Amino acid sequence: MNYQTRVGTRRIARPAAILIFLSVLVPLAGAQSKSPVAKPPKMPLRPKLVVLLVVDQMRADYVEKFRGQWVGGLKRLVAEGAWFRDAAYPYAATETCVGHATISTGALPVTHGMISNEWFDRELQKTVTCTDDSKVKNLGYAGASVTGGNSASKMLVPAFADELKFQTGGGTRVVTFSLKARAAITMGGRLGDAVTWFDADVGAWTTSSAYPVVAFVEEFAKAHPVAGDYGKTWAPMLPASAYLYDAAATGAVPPAGFGAVFPHPLGGKPDSTKPDPVFYEQWHTSPYADTYLTRIAETAVDKLDLGARAGTDFLAVSYSSVDYVGHAFGPRSWEIQDVLARLDQDLAGLFAHLDKRVGRGNYVVALSADHGVVPIPEDLQKTGMDAGWLNIESVKQHIEKSLEPFNYAKPAVAEVSASEVYFTPGTYDKLKTDPAALRAVLEAIQSVPGVARVYRAEELEDRPATKSPIRRAEANSFLKVRSGDVLIVPKAYWPWDSSTPTSPRQYGTTHGTPHYYDQRVPVLLMGFGVQPGEYFQAITPADIAPTLATLCGITLARGDGRVLAEALRVPTVKDPLPNPARAAASPKRP
Ligand SMILES: [Zn+2]
Repeated sequence: MNYQTRVGTRRIARPAAILIFLSVLVPLAGAQSKSPVAKPPKMPLRPKLVVLLVVDQMRADYVEKFRGQWVGGLKRLVAEGAWFRDAAYPYAATETCVGHATISTGALPVTHGMISNEWFDRELQKTVTCTDDSKVKNLGYAGASVTGGNSASKMLVPAFADELKFQTGGGTRVVTFSLKARAAITMGGRLGDAVTWFDADVGAWTTSSAYPVVAFVEEFAKAHPVAGDYGKTWAPMLPASAYLYDAAATGAVPPAGFGAVFPHPLGGKPDSTKPDPVFYEQWHTSPYADTYLTRIAETAVDKLDLGARAGTDFLAVSYSSVDYVGHAFGPRSWEIQDVLARLDQDLAGLFAHLDKRVGRGNYVVALSADHGVVPIPEDLQKTGMDAGWLNIESVKQHIEKSLEPFNYAKPAVAEVSASEVYFTPGTYDKLKTDPAALRAVLEAIQSVPGVARVYRAEELEDRPATKSPIRRAEANSFLKVRSGDVLIVPKAYWPWDSSTPTSPRQYGTTHGTPHYYDQRVPVLLMGFGVQPGEYFQAITPADIAPTLATLCGITLARGDGRVLAEALRVPTVKDPLPNPARAAASPKRP
């Protein structure tokens, strides 16, 4: 596929779009026939509920390849929504925390500061996760005891949800769910009312002292323990003929207890008779976790009356299982198709629930992904492609060796966190005044198999003007206080390998590079204020928050995205219905 092709703005009207149009048109026409001065039908000026759905690791081309397998919610989004077919993150660190923070704030990592899932904190001299916060304590639901503390304190820009709540004067409830803290928290911001994630070590739904502990989550967690899925077997839902590719994905690294092909039993360790950490890993690598998240989100709608009060409420769900399944089995697997086909069913249920409780057209849905993924290198190699693994440990060793002829204390490297190389205190300052040693280091990194190029931090500061898309992507990910001293760009189809001689790699494939397969994701909008159609202009997921802000009548402080105005048909005070509907509804008199 030629990824360079850019098609200009184009919209295709489809039968589904016409159906929606008619459903808007019919009540108005009826009203007009009774009274020539009838008031326009009541249509809220703002959505009653904003629903943000993030499918972790969903490649944009899954929509193109697999939508023939869908009959439910994913199909409805494509058929009734605005489908942006060329959306991609314009930055390098295509990881979960970064993508969610970008969708949530409308800003790029250079602005929102969530530059990676984790980075090396130079003050603490240790690696921290993007949501680590020593000032708060995690709290487990249903009596579980959990450790650590997580909050949005490292996010440098408010979430859209924060702005919505603040600007509407408190009438907004913010509710987010995910298996991952870094997803639930970045979407829920600092003012979230119910921000819930799953601690897979102990199998517990969790929040932290940064957020309220919520009664309905406690009740749900008690009434529906995840352990209820213990002993289930994940088998293919569709007939075998419906799946693309081979039943056994080449190069897959399934979680413990899962084989290379379906069916996958969720029984924990082989000798286990009750839920154990292996079971929880199997569970989050299965469609049952998506179904659970959907059910708890529906319960939130009921228990909190989301979308039924005066303000605009916010509900976000990040579905993590596609990421876990994708890491294990890769994008060319039956498993990835099956987990999406089942998510399609879950979303059908969620939308039907929202139609009933909030009203079709009263809520707006935005669905996207936090990043894509690269095909499994061993699978690519079968085609003769230049593909392989870029070993992080090897980068570290090459750097240390390159400095041996020079006068440097060992170790010179404090941490290599995938693309980011952090030197020990004082080492990089010394290297900057020592051109021969610095050249030796850069050449050593460059010689590691899979390295495309290396940037020094100074080349990426302050978003330099550049025609190089890769350098621009690196600069959009760069924040001096958190980023590495030297940054590595892997070659295309050479993902990061975190294995060491003593610990094998635990995944079949991964993401996190500035290559298009990691950057490109779906963006689908549906419902209140959305003009259905297919849109081919290049956009980024940073455009989602400004677009939602416009629909909700609020202003974001600072961002890098734009309003996707081409896909909006927002009712206004003077013009309560979209223009096309109104024009068509006015009977032409002879
Ligand atoms: Zn991932």
